[in-house]
Amino acid sequence: MRYSGFRVIKEALTGHRGWKPAWRDVAPQAEYDYVIIGGGGHGLAAAYYLAKQFGGKKIAVLEKGWIGGGNVGRNTTIIRSNYLLDGNEPFYEFSLKLWENLEQELNYNAMVSQRGILNLVHTDAQRDAARRRGNAMILNGSDAELLDADGVRKMYPFLNFDNARFPIKGGLLHRRGGTVRHDAVAWGYARGADQHGVDIIQNCEVTGFRIDGGKIKGVETTRGYIGAKKVASSVAGSSSRVMSMAGMRLPIESHVLQAFVSEGLKPTIPGVITYGAGHFYCSQSDKGGLVFGGDIDGYNTYAQRGNLPVVEDVIESGVSLIPALGRVRLLRSWGGIMDMSMDGSPFIDKTHIEGLYFNGGWCYGGFKATPAAGWCLAHLLATDTPHETATAYRLDRFRSGLIIDEKGQGAQPNLH
Ligand SMILES: Cc1cc2nc3c(=O)[nH]c(=O)nc-3n(C[C@H](O)[C@H](O)[C@H](O)COP(=O)(O)OP(=O)(O)OC[C@H]3O[C@@H](n4cnc5c(N)ncnc54)[C@H](O)[C@@H]3O)c2cc1C
Repeated sequence: MRYSGFRVIKEALTGHRGWKPAWRDVAPQAEYDYVIIGGGGHGLAAAYYLAKQFGGKKIAVLEKGWIGGGNVGRNTTIIRSNYLLDGNEPFYEFSLKLWENLEQELNYNAMVSQRGILNLVHTDAQRDAARRRGNAMILNGSDAELLDADGVRKMYPFLNFDNARFPIKGGLLHRRGGTVRHDAVAWGYARGADQHGVDIIQNCEVTGFRIDGGKIKGVETTRGYIGAKKVASSVAGSSSRVMSMAGMRLPIESHVLQAFVSEGLKPTIPGVITYGAGHFYCSQSDKGGLVFGGDIDGYNTYAQRGNLPVVEDVIESGVSLIPALGRVRLLRSWGGIMDMSMDGSPFIDKTHIEGLYFNGGWCYGGFKATPAAGWCLAHLLATDTPHETATAYRLDRFRSGLIIDEKGQGAQPNLH
């Protein structure tokens, strides 16, 4: 069924009896060509592109909970292509280009909104870094504009310009960045994958791998054994747990990241603002709530909820940047488990086990990567070679020394 304005009117006039489920509810088959573990944005996007772009057949996505229940439905919805390093920026630019056509591609309203992202600058050193980053972005086909303090004041007059611990000296504006309705991305890809014959199986937890002679044979699940020629793990914060069942120890730690939403307000913040000195980022949802976040909680955990010190820290940061925020009531907060890699960059790679592939280590930047991560994982599964924009995302990069330390923090996963 195609979605359109005409369809909405027709259904409204006929009692909404014609809508069909967006994807089928199927029982697992005994064997597949491809099994993708994890029905988050990445797993579903990979299944969609594998079937549509690469002609893959007999594909299943196995999700232990429900579609959209993981980080894809918990993030602060920011998309951008404003990375510095060569290993990263072409990939994120590829992703942003896929976002720009996603709704037409999926025939699904994911509310892609390129409302612009402004990274505030508070010191001369930060301005130098922003200029360098902006140049790297432009060289890779992205967009960047350096604003002075007056330029920022024109866009966001309510920021704390006059009495701030970290005065605002300007900002790096990336106009094509923005936000996307996060759970609609999961639903859109699930619907698209289903239309191309992918089996999406919810409430199906992978509990083990069957490996014989160094080759994958299939997966054990809570719904029985499922055979597969190729298996990809795409389970975000559960990466270490799942891959340990294949005997692998990953260069990844799991940490919780919290997000917050305020009561609904009239239109206040037109774009996305990030506050580099205090670590705070904020946008406004279409329902009017201010959506914001800050640092990870800073200890290893698999719990999808955070603790109060970070709540206080994020709100303090927010109020110091936007004093008027002190008058706004907080509506909800929640947490998701982040797969924090040692250099802050992800992996899309084969493993030493034939037929077993891994996608993870996305830290808190994996939502914006969803379309490209899906495409590149599908490319790897179908062709056994990395996509040209993802050649640096290797599992062995810590052995070779070719790390991608975008933030220059070293092996400190809690700081990336
Ligand atoms: C609070 C918060 C804010 C964030 N903000 C942003 C942002 O603004 N911009 C951005 O780019 N990124 C952001 N991120 C990061 C981004 O959400 C993640 O990197 C990305 O969603 C991870 O990919 P995914 O969607 O596939 O993960 P998920 O949606 O977590 O999918 C993984 C799935 O695997 C399933 N699974 C786990 N174990 C098993 C198993 N054994 N068997 C079967 N299934 C299993 C899980 O149930 C889950 O559904 C944020 C994350 C959080 C938590």
